[in-house]
Amino acid sequence: MVYDLDSIERIGVIGAGTMGSGIAQVAAMNGYDVVMRDIEDQYVQNGFDSIESSLDRFVAKDKLSETEKAETMERIEGTTALDDLADCQAVVEAALEDMDIKQDIFAELEGVVDDEAFIATNTSTLSITTIASAIDSEERVVGLHFMNPVPVMKGVEIVYGEKTSDEALELAHDLAEAMGKETWESDDKPGFVANRILMPWINEGIRAFDEGVATKEDIDTGMKLGTNVPMGPLQLADHIGLDICLHATETLHEELGDRYKPAYLLKRKVDAGDLGKKTGKGFYEYD
Ligand code: NAD
Repeated sequence: MVYDLDSIERIGVIGAGTMGSGIAQVAAMNGYDVVMRDIEDQYVQNGFDSIESSLDRFVAKDKLSETEKAETMERIEGTTALDDLADCQAVVEAALEDMDIKQDIFAELEGVVDDEAFIATNTSTLSITTIASAIDSEERVVGLHFMNPVPVMKGVEIVYGEKTSDEALELAHDLAEAMGKETWESDDKPGFVANRILMPWINEGIRAFDEGVATKEDIDTGMKLGTNVPMGPLQLADHIGLDICLHATETLHEELGDRYKPAYLLKRKVDAGDLGKKTGKGFYEYD
């Protein structure tokens, strides 16, 4: 059995990167005490810096008061020790997208939290069932796939593994909603719903650019005006990070075959270190 929503007061977040810091922020903005864990103090500090800048943007837009910002920051504790998550009734793992790292974290975490704690992973493409197989109590593991940027995006994809219990699945929906989000559900199939459909769209945009179908601006404008999406495929790829797009596409390719083969230009840009917004250059340049 896992705790019910009313029993959850303290949430552990593993990883203080792009997603972990965002998840810690929305949990704290919605009244939860949060323990945010990364492997080095500097990474924990980077997480706090991102949260503060994001909260400042909410304050500038009058969506949050200075007092609410301060209260949100106070609810978040940073740590490099996994043991500090011992009192958490729910934990969301948002470390690197690597099966071995995630399984090691889960195995260690099982010895830290109590038996009723809910455990979720924010993986984009890895199997929930395989991650959960690293622990004995696989039934309490669910995919809680937040979208980037977490404080802004409304949706959370809930993914059930082979062994996920109905209680854990229900709690995943309840917890995401308690953090101000709306949910949809996916089976544990490669890429789930969101990335299975999004990544080939991005990949085809990159191929179209590489094969000279149109300029990158025209590809993005064409898809924005033509299909009513807020960003075209190349802009969105820069926003997500080209390394992340390549990794997700490679996982889909491995699992589902040639229709998901990554575009050559995507691989070349990642090899060159042009990863999108985060390095200042991807398909476009950023200050
Ligand atoms: P990131 O690289 O920004 O952050 C990952 C963090 O995890 C780093 O700070 C790293 O130091 C930390 N870490 C590594 N090993 C750790 C450990 N053992 N314990 C604690 N922390 C550890 O990555 P991200 O973009 O935040 O992605 C995190 C997860 O979320 C991945 O599984 C990714 O697939 C998923 N995701 C990413 C996006 C996105 O658009 N970036 C969207 C949805 C889901």
